Amino acid sequence: MEIITLGTGSPIPSPDRAGPSTLIRAEGRDFLVDCGRGVQMRMAAAWCSAPQLTAVLLTHLHSDHITDFNDVLTSRWIMSPVPSPLTVIGPVGTQRFVDRTLAMLADDIGYRIAHHDDLNEGPVIQVHEVSSGVVFDDGVVRVLAEPTNHAPVAPTVGYRFEASGKSAVIAGDTVPCEGLSRLVAGADLYVQTVIRRALVEQVPMQRFLDILDYHSTTETAAQTAAEGGVGALVFTHPVPAPQPGTEQDWLDDAAALYAGPVHLAVDLFSLTI
Ligand SMILES: [Zn+2]
Ligand SMILES: [Zn+2]
Repeated sequence: MEIITLGTGSPIPSPDRAGPSTLIRAEGRDFLVDCGRGVQMRMAAAWCSAPQLTAVLLTHLHSDHITDFNDVLTSRWIMSPVPSPLTVIGPVGTQRFVDRTLAMLADDIGYRIAHHDDLNEGPVIQVHEVSSGVVFDDGVVRVLAEPTNHAPVAPTVGYRFEASGKSAVIAGDTVPCEGLSRLVAGADLYVQTVIRRALVEQVPMQRFLDILDYHSTTETAAQTAAEGGVGALVFTHPVPAPQPGTEQDWLDDAAALYAGPVHLAVDLFSLTI
């Protein structure tokens, strides 16, 4: 199983980091978790196109994690030679979000159907709203979800991918919680969106300080990794974006609490387990 952090940014625009999205490649299947800013540019760099996605999975409906979903949806539709329904798995509210996205795209969908003789219907999206348990299983790859805690954003979910005896968790934005603990228990890899508390606390702006109460920090993510006995920890979506040369500080936060390998992801960082 290969895990590629396609985009490792946050709501704050960055020249180097696309919005949050992660690609999981397992046994010939491609799963996309979240669709942040520029997701398809990073997918192209990873030799992945929308028509080949097995499923799109959303952790939650914060804008930074979904802003380019419409681009994935449209590309899937117009690049597939025959109708190819897109499976979208997400928390309760995902169906409403998809319906609204299709409404936003109604003009474009109309233009293309009118122009192309071989395009006679709009995009077909099969939405599965999930909260806990097995959310995908084709006998080769299994995906489980658990509720996470990103309150007041709710509901939110994290995902655990299992194939060939290996497991990888893509947690999304959350503080430590029971669902997250169940998800990471014994996983080979745990990917967590993080903030660095010491840096966030230095910014004298309440709207920025507010993010402290609903994200894992470098420290709490390391604690979750240690308690879950995971094989390796990946920090993604680091806030604020690390200044060049300070990367080791982020890893040192974790090293005191978790003995396994820790990585601070950049866009297109890849790990195979
Ligand atoms: Zn986020
Ligand atoms: Zn969020």
